[in-house]
Amino acid sequence: MKKYFCILFTVSAVFLSACNSITDKDQAAPCEAELFAMDTYMKLTAYGENAETAVKQSQKKIEELDRLLSAEQSDSEIYKLNKNRSISPSADTLSLLKKAIEYSEMTGGSFNPTLHPITELWGFTTKKYRVPEKSEIDKLLPYAVTDNVIIYDNSIELKNSETEVDLGGIAKGYTSSKIAEIFIENGVKSGIINLGGNVRTIGTKPDGSEWNVAIENPDPDSSYLGILKTHGKAVITSGGYERNFEQNGKIYHHIIDPSTGYPADNGLVSVTVVTENDTLADALSTALFVMGEEKAVDFWKNSSEAFDIILYTDKDKLIVSEGIRNSFSSDYEIGYVSR
Ligand code: AMP
Ligand code: MG
Repeated sequence: MKKYFCILFTVSAVFLSACNSITDKDQAAPCEAELFAMDTYMKLTAYGENAETAVKQSQKKIEELDRLLSAEQSDSEIYKLNKNRSISPSADTLSLLKKAIEYSEMTGGSFNPTLHPITELWGFTTKKYRVPEKSEIDKLLPYAVTDNVIIYDNSIELKNSETEVDLGGIAKGYTSSKIAEIFIENGVKSGIINLGGNVRTIGTKPDGSEWNVAIENPDPDSSYLGILKTHGKAVITSGGYERNFEQNGKIYHHIIDPSTGYPADNGLVSVTVVTENDTLADALSTALFVMGEEKAVDFWKNSSEAFDIILYTDKDKLIVSEGIRNSFSSDYEIGYVSR
């Protein structure tokens, strides 16, 4: 089988691709690319005639979105918004910020895209971690409200000098939705988009069977929490284990409870959301993690959105919604919830 390999170095990412050449008749072999962007390792896998084009276009799109949406890269739109207090945004930034505010309202503020000054206090933006004084948090928390983000047709403004936007809780979901669009436009009927454990499946496996998506175990010494058989859906997980630091024997992680300004501590270790809408899945996985078990289950029961959940509690229990009852298997004790 003829293959080509290429390594491209860019400012934010390293790509390693292995694709069939176009003369290759063996359509069963995928085109794959691995890259580092948005502070995470990503892997794209596409099958079919235009797989190579789809993967190349996707790499470009990921780079483009990383440059727009990062709150830490000094040339990004979000960075400029936070620094200059107003921008004329690209269509992507505008539409994602609108969505972020919509999901913030939908989740009663548990998802909050204006926590940047708080995550900065904790050092999650610079990796210079520290536990801030409560007085520092209390000073900034009142400004972490989406009411201070004013969206006009062609511009975005921040009303108060302390308010800053962070789309880190939703950017990867939006990115996978855009990559899914690129795959589908290119006729890819079978593929996997893995953005640092956030998985989007395109169609089924080439043989028509379901994809097996492993749900990561926060305990690295244990095997997966379980396996989900799925197709055509996003499977997006949030957990405090993904980024954290330890001080005086206590772990502090990166998902902030907007009502306190401290890392959310409501009994959940990880939350996985399964739905066709990647952006919604990303916002909800973060929001439900903040809510904790009881409120998250109530939210799911009362929501008109079509999605399923896998909650992993600090008592080693799994709570799984009825829609994926027959497609999720695990060695852990499972409690099922229905609407
Ligand atoms: P995720 O892994 O999708 O749950 O996103 C976590 C990231 O979202 C953090 O690293 C922060 O950048 C940001 N973030 C933290 N807490 C929240 C929150 N309550 N709502 C929205 N974004 C948040
Ligand atoms: Mg999220």
